[in-house]
Amino acid sequence: MASPFEIRDIDRRIWEQELDSFVPEKVFDAHSHIYKWDFNLDPHKNTGGMAKLVLPHYEQASFALLDEADAALMPGREVHRLAFPFPFSLPCNFDASNKYIAEQIRQDSESAALMLVHPEMSSDEIYKQLDQSHFLGFKPYRFYSATGDAVNCSITDFLPEHQIEIAHDRELIIMMHLSKTDAIADPDNLKDLQGLCRRYPNVRWILAHCARSYSTWAIERAASVLRELPNLWYDTSSVCETDAIAALIKTARPNRVMYGSDDIPIGVLRGKYITFGYGWAYLSSENHTLNLAHCNPEMTFTRYEQLRAMKRAADLLGMGEPEIQDLFYNTARELVNSVGC
Ligand SMILES: [Zn+2]
Repeated sequence: MASPFEIRDIDRRIWEQELDSFVPEKVFDAHSHIYKWDFNLDPHKNTGGMAKLVLPHYEQASFALLDEADAALMPGREVHRLAFPFPFSLPCNFDASNKYIAEQIRQDSESAALMLVHPEMSSDEIYKQLDQSHFLGFKPYRFYSATGDAVNCSITDFLPEHQIEIAHDRELIIMMHLSKTDAIADPDNLKDLQGLCRRYPNVRWILAHCARSYSTWAIERAASVLRELPNLWYDTSSVCETDAIAALIKTARPNRVMYGSDDIPIGVLRGKYITFGYGWAYLSSENHTLNLAHCNPEMTFTRYEQLRAMKRAADLLGMGEPEIQDLFYNTARELVNSVGC
């Protein structure tokens, strides 16, 4: 099959004119997905919204396909990654998801994987899988909330404390995609994080998608609390706004922000996350009816929009080459190396 990562003129121009000089030679992608569409057990999955993102090219997101995506979108870069399964909505085959990623990640001794968890997994079950598969931590997801409410659930609704205790015990990473409409600005989320960081100080929390702050307001509102917490890291995956990334870098402790692609499939899809009021949404050429006759209406990869925002943020903050290398590689490398299992 031909490469699904077709590089068009628009992509080539953006890469060459804006990004090639910005993205360092060595990259550690802190947020990537390895999965098979087969692990989504929903019998109606092929008519749902997710199918449009995955079919036909991304039915099997293997380690090799991620390599292919990186080779196409960031030519010449050496890329390692922290990967985890795709959290399909229930019913999802957790067992097969974790087995597949454990097997795939062995292809690169410098990459690492996290285990997809749901709240009903017992401590014994998790310890067993950690030992068998050498996962460096957990990928919980709000879809698996014990309350059945994926929008308003609290952290411990989808990641119960017996699982956080394991992460503390083994000094593991937790990749946290926060829930609730105000995400990191939600007072209950902040209170929960403060309490969990105090009770389980060995956990390395990665707050995904700039702590799910696609714009500035959420991270700015949370800044004073976040600065106090010593065990938080962040990834920039799929955030396409310069001010959000700049606000995050200003908020986070030094060397806590990491590049992440959210591939596969988000970063390689053509479109962009946009924000408005207190909301955010994914804009693609398939889901809008804007009249774009006045300009070039083509869209590039989400990943390029994110990299553009990262570059502008780095420019705004006057970041030098060493800091950019930390953002793209060193911080994630050191975090992964620090995991105690
Ligand atoms: Zn993701």
